[in-house]
Amino acid sequence: MKSRPLSRQLYSRAQRSLVEGVNSPSRGAAVYSDGPIYLEKGRGSHVWDADGNEYLDFMMSFGALIQGHAHPTIVETVSQAAAEGSHFASATSAEIEAGERVRRMVPSAEVVRFANTGSEATMLALRLARAYTRRTKFLKFEGHYHGWYDPFLLNAHSHPPDQLGPGDNPARIPDSEGIPQATFDDVIIAPWNDVSALERVIRQHGQELAAVITEPIMANMGCILPRDGYLQRIRELTTDCGALFILDEVVTGFRYAPGGCQQYYGIRPDISTFGKALGAGFPIGAVAGPRGILDQMRWSEHMVLHYGTFNGHRLTMKVVTANLDLLSEPSAYAKLHGVGNNAIAGLRDVFRRHGVKAIVQGFGPMFQIYFTDREAVHDYRDYCAYVDTQRYSRFVCRLLDRGIYMTPSNGLHWIISTAHTESDVDALIAAADQACKDVA
Ligand code: PLP
Repeated sequence: MKSRPLSRQLYSRAQRSLVEGVNSPSRGAAVYSDGPIYLEKGRGSHVWDADGNEYLDFMMSFGALIQGHAHPTIVETVSQAAAEGSHFASATSAEIEAGERVRRMVPSAEVVRFANTGSEATMLALRLARAYTRRTKFLKFEGHYHGWYDPFLLNAHSHPPDQLGPGDNPARIPDSEGIPQATFDDVIIAPWNDVSALERVIRQHGQELAAVITEPIMANMGCILPRDGYLQRIRELTTDCGALFILDEVVTGFRYAPGGCQQYYGIRPDISTFGKALGAGFPIGAVAGPRGILDQMRWSEHMVLHYGTFNGHRLTMKVVTANLDLLSEPSAYAKLHGVGNNAIAGLRDVFRRHGVKAIVQGFGPMFQIYFTDREAVHDYRDYCAYVDTQRYSRFVCRLLDRGIYMTPSNGLHWIISTAHTESDVDALIAAADQACKDVA
């Protein structure tokens, strides 16, 4: 049991100056019933809280820290870049180098535009698609989160099954107040991982769709893999109806393969969005695709506008280059997959030995635990109906007390970085074993 009096004190101090004590609801009371743990230091796969407690970090900044904390190359890169001048908001060679690496690694990236967050990237992708097709409607899937831009905030949170409406005509549930209802008039919602549902919706609305946007692996209801051929079918259907295929790789990009899930699953989207792991802990977003689509941003009377003081931030561009060079080392992805698969196998074994009805879903660098009777969670509705998220939250709180750092939100996922080792996996398995005994 770890005691955290200083985290408690910081949380009550935080309430005075920050809304709910935090800067994003996913870090505060929404998931931590006793208040957040204040982390003060990280190195490799380890973090330390304000009270000096040490943890093994499997949350890794919601997946941003693909090289772990304070990787020596990243630290060196940042120190040098900061000393030279962190940002000029002018053209720099740093952004060329970063762009060249993205192009080299991502098969569909003919050109790249850098922004600062994944939300900006998806926002820009949609604008590009709408301008390109001269259509306004777009299709998003239930349970997919693409950032906090207004039109994406429909059916991105989980809800009790009785509120979801029929699968072939989902209830439309906004995730935020303050968004004009009319914004959602242009959004078509469909269940994910269901080819016939998709074919039906495309038959009905295909000709008016600017885009279909999807995550390749559904990463905001844990870790839900696409059924065989599903992404390929999206590719075919969007091509047929003239909508653009936007693949949101903000979570999966640079994580599963050098070229992200599009390389792993062998698909070629029209527009891809990136963030998180691309910046190895620094704020980043990127849109990539063919010139014909991205060149709409070239300066002209009828351009697609994309401004940003911090776009191509020099220090971050240097980090992106250093990070992608590290990820280009031959062992990088083998390690991410190897360590992750061992963690998954070990956790499955723990649950089996304890007779706990839980599955571990995903592979390699990203996975999630679901307490459920089901053999697999295939979509949003499975997640809402059959996953015991409260039990997961209690389980993670036990792990936190045993030195494993993870968010208690079941909607997120466990992350393996290049800093994680087999002994970290052993420590995780031992802690999970104890946590199962505690719960029993
Ligand atoms: N797209 C996906 C799939 C995400 O998971 C997220 C964030 O979690 C975003 C976009 C938005 O990225 P950001 O939080 O950097 O704005």
